[in-house]
Amino acid sequence: MKYIDLEAQYKSIKYSLDKTLLNTAKGGKYILGKQVVKLEEKVAALIQTKYAVGLNSGTDALFLSLKAMAIGHGDEVITTPFSFVATAEVIATAGAKPVFVDINPRTFNIDPAKIKRAITKRSKVIMPVHLYGQMADMDAIIKIAKKHKLFVIEDAAQAIGATQKYQVSSSKYLVRKAGSAGNIGCFSFFPTKNLGAYGDGGMITTNYERLAEKIRMLRNHGSKKKYQHDFLGFSSRLDELQAAILLAKLPHLKKWNKARQKIAAYYTKNLAGIEALTTPFIEAGDEHIFHQYTIRTKERDKLRAFLSTRDIPTSIHYPLPLHLQPALKYLNYKLGDFPEAELAAKEVLSLPLYPELKISDQNKIINAVISFYRNQ
Ligand SMILES: *Cc1c(COP(=O)(O)O)cnc(C)c1O
Repeated sequence: MKYIDLEAQYKSIKYSLDKTLLNTAKGGKYILGKQVVKLEEKVAALIQTKYAVGLNSGTDALFLSLKAMAIGHGDEVITTPFSFVATAEVIATAGAKPVFVDINPRTFNIDPAKIKRAITKRSKVIMPVHLYGQMADMDAIIKIAKKHKLFVIEDAAQAIGATQKYQVSSSKYLVRKAGSAGNIGCFSFFPTKNLGAYGDGGMITTNYERLAEKIRMLRNHGSKKKYQHDFLGFSSRLDELQAAILLAKLPHLKKWNKARQKIAAYYTKNLAGIEALTTPFIEAGDEHIFHQYTIRTKERDKLRAFLSTRDIPTSIHYPLPLHLQPALKYLNYKLGDFPEAELAAKEVLSLPLYPELKISDQNKIINAVISFYRNQ
């Protein structure tokens, strides 16, 4: 069994992918052509923002967002210690200081109740991560950001298509998409993400014209007009071939996310009886798109080893919280600073889950987990 099977997805839409790959090759325009523009329009429509800008990677989406907001030396950015390294890495490479806030142990997302204590005069941005495909509590985060005049950059790398219900008045609710709640949303098209390219790719979404325009120029050496550079930027464009692949895949995203949700519900239904294991918690009003299906259990390492003997691969997202990473040692955090993130790192286990995962494999996984606990 594979943890994720990208070939199965290719085979399922081979015809349209082959055609678009060949047409792009024949087209002779490989950087900043029509496909990127078209994808930007489609993603902006999907996320319900005015603008989208295609970039080299999700990491660059986060980094250029900070750059566009002129975040750098002397500034602090509040984020979660329980994420992929890129989230904190970009804050540091932009010259600012990552300030961590512990997570809510049920959702694994940043705990808004703990953000206030982390705010200082130097705070400029809150950067929540929508971990595993479920949105952080954006209502609470936006409220804090407004009060303290902070920007919000959403790391939505794992959450393209996730939604959240929010209250607009005493009786009125609306639904918002991940990437449309803050000032900027950041997406990754890394091959294993819910919408994956055949290489690196990323995008930002925003309703702010000034930020979109700035990032559009930052990705292309600070240039709007050929060989005129208004400021210094970077080389961070999404290329035409990746955009073409993503355009062919995008119409399937909704169906794929639904397939993920269906498998997740099947796992949860069948594993719910095991007391020593916690299945993913879904906040009321949230649409979780299950980039990962992550359980937690005190017997994590033993369960993982057992599943491995049954040819079931698993992953740990993430084994070491960011505040304890060697690369961020200079921030002087220590063990015990964020107990929820530290405990989660010891207990989480992601099971195989992708839209094409066969029902026979799903049953094999469920049966193996059940038999592990029966013999405990
Ligand atoms: C994948 C990911 C990123 C980085 O995206 P890349 O496209 O790989 O650069 C950032 N944050 C989170 C939470 C991610 O999962």
